[in-house]
Amino acid sequence: MIRVLLVLAIAVFAPLQAQTPYGIGYRLAMSRPASHLFEVTIDVSVPANDSSGFIDFQMPKWQPGRYAVANFAANVQEFKAQSQTRNLVWTKIDDQTWRVQRQGNRTLTATYKVFGNDLSGTYAQLDFGHATYTGGEIFMYVAGHKADPVELHVEPPPNWRVVNGRIERPNQRDWQYPNYDLLIDNPTEIGPDWTLDEFRVDGKTYRIVVHSRGDEGGRRPALVRDVEKIVRAEIRMWGPPEFDSYTFLFHFAADDRSSDGMEHLTSTHIIEPGILAERHTYANAVSTAAHEFFHAWNVKRLRPVEFGPWDLTRPAATRALWIAEGFTQYYGMLMYYRAGVEEPEGFLQNLSDTIATIENSPASKLMSAEASSMAAPFIDTAVHRQRTNLSNTSLSYYLKGELIALNLDLLIRGWTRGQRSLDDVMRRAYDEFYLKSPNASYYLKGRGYSIEDFARVVSEVAGRDMTDWFARYIRGVDLLPYDEALATVGLRLVKSPAYLPYTAGIVIDRDDRQSLRLGALHTNSPAERGGLQEGDVLLSIAGTNVSRENWQSVINRYKKGDRVAVTVRRFRRSMDLSIVLEEPDVFDYRIEEIPNVTAQARALRTAWLQGK
Ligand SMILES: [Zn+2]
Ligand SMILES: [Zn+2]
Repeated sequence: MIRVLLVLAIAVFAPLQAQTPYGIGYRLAMSRPASHLFEVTIDVSVPANDSSGFIDFQMPKWQPGRYAVANFAANVQEFKAQSQTRNLVWTKIDDQTWRVQRQGNRTLTATYKVFGNDLSGTYAQLDFGHATYTGGEIFMYVAGHKADPVELHVEPPPNWRVVNGRIERPNQRDWQYPNYDLLIDNPTEIGPDWTLDEFRVDGKTYRIVVHSRGDEGGRRPALVRDVEKIVRAEIRMWGPPEFDSYTFLFHFAADDRSSDGMEHLTSTHIIEPGILAERHTYANAVSTAAHEFFHAWNVKRLRPVEFGPWDLTRPAATRALWIAEGFTQYYGMLMYYRAGVEEPEGFLQNLSDTIATIENSPASKLMSAEASSMAAPFIDTAVHRQRTNLSNTSLSYYLKGELIALNLDLLIRGWTRGQRSLDDVMRRAYDEFYLKSPNASYYLKGRGYSIEDFARVVSEVAGRDMTDWFARYIRGVDLLPYDEALATVGLRLVKSPAYLPYTAGIVIDRDDRQSLRLGALHTNSPAERGGLQEGDVLLSIAGTNVSRENWQSVINRYKKGDRVAVTVRRFRRSMDLSIVLEEPDVFDYRIEEIPNVTAQARALRTAWLQGK
């Protein structure tokens, strides 16, 4: 009994002793771009009083901003550890950790290569044209010493130049970071032909770095001007940002595939699949910039309590992504408009489209905003080997969060007769949790907020207790109060049967190009009730042989209440089934003006759209 107690006491008190920092230096080379192999060297020096027998080098399982598990260790090869010239014994102890025996040495060097050939905000790419990375996908950390200061030296190929969001001088190749978490928060571009434009706002420098793999059509000066408008609109709302310089790193990939936007403390990495010369690619780049720059406040500094320091051994779990991403989605759209880059009709059209996506989704009645946030590791571009029901059960915390923000913003404006808005909620939360709270960890200024903290700030700004509202709309799946919210600014939501053809809940598997195989059917739909199931191959509807092109038009010859014969092939036999058609369950949504609105509603709408 006593022994057990003694062990417990040690276990409880041991983590409180601060570990003496290690000296940790990274070197990054890329001598053979065609191999897609980054060459990483980590030099570690251990203080004399450190008695540990080994050092664990750990590859992150994921990295901040993308919540699906990535397992970066899968791309590590040729790991070695040495002290002076002697090889050290190492063992792989789990799927992300290389344990090196020190054998009495105080300095040692680990080297390895990492394959990278994805242009993304999460993965790295090295090829003939450039090297680009975020950090967590190529740099291992020393377990137990993530908080220690680290150095980085980059050795580019001849004639390639290095740029990132922490540049202090031209041709910089060496950086110092207060800790590993900040090392991997600095996406870096290394190549021969990126361009740099700059502008200044309120004494701070903004850089626009562009690497185009296709024609720019002379649009780069316009891009710089429009990004500056966005920067000014967002600073007008938030006040002065907490950085000296900020870098927008754009890739125009020209591969019709690579697409991303990733937020960081002093930069963002935006990847468009098209070329800058295209109008829609240009528009997407600017609106993504509006979203990502908003993250310089919301998520990177004003952050959920779980967001840093990062535990990179298991996925992050927070209930607050509908704030972190959803509110950013809302303000990204709004700022795009407030900056004068977008027409008001486009903004309202975007909101209507989001409402249609959320309200037509079967998951809107199953998954709350909080639950969606907790499901992020499964839905944020996660890859699944097992079949899932996520198409029926999962909802986007981006879009649901955007609609929660819309409703809260308009309701607060209405309840306070235009005195306050969601802008005040964001400013007050930023002030309290980031600017004014004592530092909770080595990672960053201030502390993260809990959902309860955030709900309290909303209640204070709204001037009423919002506990019940949060229970219904955030934790629950009640239909958001669109009518009340939109009426505040003289608008209303009009719902009408969808223009889209009726499907009776049938979903065709997009991956099977050979046959008309069914994917996950809509839950509780006529197709499901009629006995169809995922994996069946659809042969005929009402006696007509069907194809990818005609199956919807065949079903739409019939109307609600009709019983329609369906033949499918299942387990190499054909089966005759029938489905009873119902009312269409998909609707179009449109936001329109209420005729003859009051002067007050009109004034509130102007204040909302213009940011007052
Ligand atoms: Zn590049
Ligand atoms: Zn985002």
